[in-house]
Amino acid sequence: MNRVYNFSAGPSMLPLPVLEKAQKELVNYANSGMSVMELSHRSGLFTEIITEAEQLLRELMRIPENYKVLFLQGGASQQFASVPMNLFGENGKAYYIHTGSWSKKAIKEANKFGSIRVIASSEDKNFSYIPSVDQSMIDPEADYVHITTNNTIEGTTFHEIPDTGDVPLVADMSSNILSEEVDVSKFGLIYAGAQKNIGPAGLTVVIIREDLIGKASDSCPTMLNYQTHSESGSLYNTPPTFSIYMAKLVFEWLKGLGGLKEIGKINREKANILYQFIDESKMFTSPVEKESRSMMNIPFISPSAELDASFLEKAKVAGLETLKGHRSVGGMRASIYNAMPVEGVQSLVECMKDFEKNYK
Ligand SMILES: *Cc1c(COP(=O)(O)O)cnc(C)c1O
Repeated sequence: MNRVYNFSAGPSMLPLPVLEKAQKELVNYANSGMSVMELSHRSGLFTEIITEAEQLLRELMRIPENYKVLFLQGGASQQFASVPMNLFGENGKAYYIHTGSWSKKAIKEANKFGSIRVIASSEDKNFSYIPSVDQSMIDPEADYVHITTNNTIEGTTFHEIPDTGDVPLVADMSSNILSEEVDVSKFGLIYAGAQKNIGPAGLTVVIIREDLIGKASDSCPTMLNYQTHSESGSLYNTPPTFSIYMAKLVFEWLKGLGGLKEIGKINREKANILYQFIDESKMFTSPVEKESRSMMNIPFISPSAELDASFLEKAKVAGLETLKGHRSVGGMRASIYNAMPVEGVQSLVECMKDFEKNYK
């Protein structure tokens, strides 16, 4: 079996031990004579799976007692609408930090439901940095402030979480959830599509402070109301059972590695290996300002589109897949989420070195 190093931004690599465990249990889960995919979501065995998945996520992220964990569908993109529909109180007012393609979509969607103001943006420099945000910019009347903690396409990250005072901070954490330790209590709500750092596509995780549940207006569809899923333990209707099971296996794998502190160290090491080479290289450069660089998604470019294309070809032959940059940005992008081993990044750097040597 030839596994490649898959640098896809999502769906992305899953840890091999997780895939192997799922394979072993695929047709007969826990002696039930059934696959997890065939289990009723109301069965005892599935209840154990979803309960453990939540427990493990709480443990890994140290989620405080006064937060609910919801396992939903619809992707992070559905949350772009669900967040304003649920959090707009009487004011119907929210502040957004605009840091790239995903925040743009979040802003566009929220605009359908209330009054949105962009209080900080990095659009002036092609989203190559994270703008600073301080409490004085925030009207205490706002229902929430929204940030995208890691900008998957542009390769930037908030290394410091803005202090929004009493105004709840909402974060799209799709591409850096579980990548290092995080203080959940700084946020009112965190959401993430699973397919980057949690598990397979089809699952969306929402972590929400209890006092923010129950504010949706009567016109909010039942399926989009956080209260529905909070009251039913994410079992109001059929949840994405197999994705939740896979997420549970990923959480177990992470816990076995030593949790978020340990994976944070490994992720920093991987990112440093790649950034160090890019900074030394005369061919490859990073379009992102140093202080804002992401540990998860690392875009880089060569001097021409032709060189980009021939590098991508060479990388593919070396078993380094899906390195093409996002169509809106071009160049290359290495997404190195939790499941990407250090060896994968080392192979990438070897390939880049070799390419540079031969083209000078
Ligand atoms: C991938 C991604 C999304 C979109 O997620 P879907 O689950 O496909 O809707 C939104 N925000 C960020 C930051 C992402 O990386």
